[in-house]
Amino acid sequence: MRFDAFKRFTDDNVIETSFAVYRDSVPVALDDMYDCFITGSDQVWNPVFRRGFFADFLTFAPDAKRVAYAASFGVSDIPREYVELYADGLKHIKHISVREDAGADIVRALTGRDCAVLIDPTLMLSAEKWLSIAKCSKTKPKGRYALLYFFGEAVQECENTVLQFAIKRWLDVVRMSDRRRDAARYTAGPDEFLDYVASAEVVFTDSFHGAVFSILFGRPFVIFDRKDKGPVMNARVDSLLSAFALESRRFDGMMDEERVFCANYSHVPAILEEKRRAAFDFLKKALNAGAVFDALGVCRLGDKCVGCGACAASCPQRCVSMECDDEGFLYPRADMSVCVRCGTCLKTCPVGASRDFEQYDRSPISVLACKSMDEELRRASSSGGVFGLLAEAVISLGGVVFGARFDESLCVNHAFAATAEGSRAFCGSKYVQSRTDAAYCEVIGFLNCHRPVLFSGTPCQTAGLKSFLGREYDWLFCVDFICHGVPSPKAWRRYLDFQESKSGSSAVYASFRDKRHGWKAYVTSIIFKDGSEYSETRDKDPYMRAFLSDLCLRPSCHACMFKMPRGNADITLADFWGVQDVLPEMDDDRGTSLVFVNSVKGGALFDMIKDRVASECVDAAKAIAHNPAAVSSATMKPEREMFFRELDSAPFDELSAKYCGSSRMARLRRKFAGLFPA
Ligand SMILES: Cc1cc2nc3c(=O)[nH]c(=O)nc-3n(C[C@H](O)[C@H](O)[C@H](O)COP(=O)(O)OP(=O)(O)OC[C@H]3O[C@@H](n4cnc5c(N)ncnc54)[C@H](O)[C@@H]3O)c2cc1C
Ligand code: SF4
Ligand code: SF4
Ligand code: SF4
Repeated sequence: MRFDAFKRFTDDNVIETSFAVYRDSVPVALDDMYDCFITGSDQVWNPVFRRGFFADFLTFAPDAKRVAYAASFGVSDIPREYVELYADGLKHIKHISVREDAGADIVRALTGRDCAVLIDPTLMLSAEKWLSIAKCSKTKPKGRYALLYFFGEAVQECENTVLQFAIKRWLDVVRMSDRRRDAARYTAGPDEFLDYVASAEVVFTDSFHGAVFSILFGRPFVIFDRKDKGPVMNARVDSLLSAFALESRRFDGMMDEERVFCANYSHVPAILEEKRRAAFDFLKKALNAGAVFDALGVCRLGDKCVGCGACAASCPQRCVSMECDDEGFLYPRADMSVCVRCGTCLKTCPVGASRDFEQYDRSPISVLACKSMDEELRRASSSGGVFGLLAEAVISLGGVVFGARFDESLCVNHAFAATAEGSRAFCGSKYVQSRTDAAYCEVIGFLNCHRPVLFSGTPCQTAGLKSFLGREYDWLFCVDFICHGVPSPKAWRRYLDFQESKSGSSAVYASFRDKRHGWKAYVTSIIFKDGSEYSETRDKDPYMRAFLSDLCLRPSCHACMFKMPRGNADITLADFWGVQDVLPEMDDDRGTSLVFVNSVKGGALFDMIKDRVASECVDAAKAIAHNPAAVSSATMKPEREMFFRELDSAPFDELSAKYCGSSRMARLRRKFAGLFPA
């Protein structure tokens, strides 16, 4: 009957495999079927009961897939005849944790490795969860009772103590594990055992799990030393009582009524929470769930990855590199032979599973339309030249400025400048995804030297930086912009190849926002080494047409997680499209910026330049009405896939013409979508 009760319980609550693993019958495809094999917990490495059974050390699995969770030896010493077997078994388990301090000593002695001491898995579930599968036994007393739950021979020794307290408190006595004296209760299943413990007035036990469930259900208990013929097995109880500071529950022959019945568990929830966190951290690491990368080192985020590079910058093993995919976008890749599954990359990733986006929510303190009074600076900038002024303000404080600039090959990457002149290279939008490379590490270097830093970039890059830093710095100012999306560096290169082969000379300078023909004309210009020049409006230039038709944006930009009100920059900049309607007096067609001051720090920075700009407050809703990219992502078009498929083979102008439709249609589409000036 007892067997039937256990079978019923496992049928209802345990998902079992259709096969068992024996030494001479290990399923052939076992390795392919599972990512990981876990051994544990209660007495799984007890040399007396298990005798070093091969499956307990997972010897059938590759080393990298072997995990021991809170494995228990149950004893403090390994008999000499098992030492070699145990040392070899332990040596091949990639992630080891044990349940008892004595177990950690054994692992250290046999392998030289330190390992975590974690709670028994039964403690990972809450009392409520356990009670949801508990069942009241038909033979349970109607009134109050003391529960005796013993495996060893201590019952007789404690019988007098138990009876003495039972009589004093008018309690029934339930002897759950006494087949002879209480046969009806002996046949109880695990679900009935849970209910017996949860409802007991007091539990007397020599069982580790008798104590565990008493703690979980907040029942007073007294634990006796187990008296067996075999080796002493009290190590697991010692660890349990000391972990929960409950040593007073051990029977010492002198327990008075007050001590037996008035157990104080008020400190237990906090300890339990901390221990559960440690257990989950171990499992996450062991199962590689804490890493951005899968077993082959490929980024698990797929299209969600924004390519910010924060994971690469934060990896303590320096085993993450940013590599180009077929479309020319950078994605992180880890060398898993060096990765230690510490989970830092996932914790740092601004779009990783553990990121709580609520923390980025912002509502601007003020929104302004601004034009720099420095006309030269405004000419070199995309809209009102506000960024350049902010850069000069931070530099005047002895700080450094980070931004995106073209290098000699016209590739776009992040760099820093400590002079106003140097920061000019960052002015003007580069419609290409920029590489952050060493920038995040350099930022922290300057901050640690107490130098003010202005970091400017896309919202996802500033989020990556903030995640990487992990805390606020008073002297860090972040500036981002309303971001339509970033085009592929490979598409930019193919476009430059096309322009260079057309002109017969290499390109040495590029501007996407040449204002010589007016701000709203939106002209792309290229200067070539031989002195020749190319200029074309956005409706005719093949690159800008591909960009504005959303053919070459990074996949993550089509489902951007950093649209307003999310973001974490102190100031957000944008082109004030629609200024001619909202504030016509501010429009001179030389560029007007929208400035969202998002934080007090941003306000202080803006105060430093307020005398160098012409500005007007604007209603936020009106300001972004002409700027759909503020709140919504560009739709991914079916033509995008074909565009990239043909990028390597077709000339760029033909590709653009093929997939962007006529320039007149493009102009009309944008006019009605309100995107950029029509
Ligand atoms: C890819 C991209 C998409 C944009 N989409 C929009 C949009 O949809 N709507 C809108 O209103 N504004 C958009 N902007 C911003 C806009 O073009 C101006 O940058 C903004 O109006 C600020 O202008 P400014 O004159 O004050 O400063 P600018 O001198 O134009 O500011 C340049 C700043 O942008 C940074 N920057 C330039 N290129 C990059 C890059 N590739 N990656 C990271 N940072 C870069 C520089 O570091 C510098 O801080 C976009 C900018 C970029 C780079
Ligand atoms: S070592 Fe840590 S941070 Fe680096 S890849 Fe592995 S899990 Fe990520
Ligand atoms: S940190 Fe940035 S680059 Fe790394 S996985 Fe996350 S989004 Fe991608
Ligand atoms: S659209 Fe979003 S994901 Fe794409 S670059 Fe801009 S902020 Fe990053």
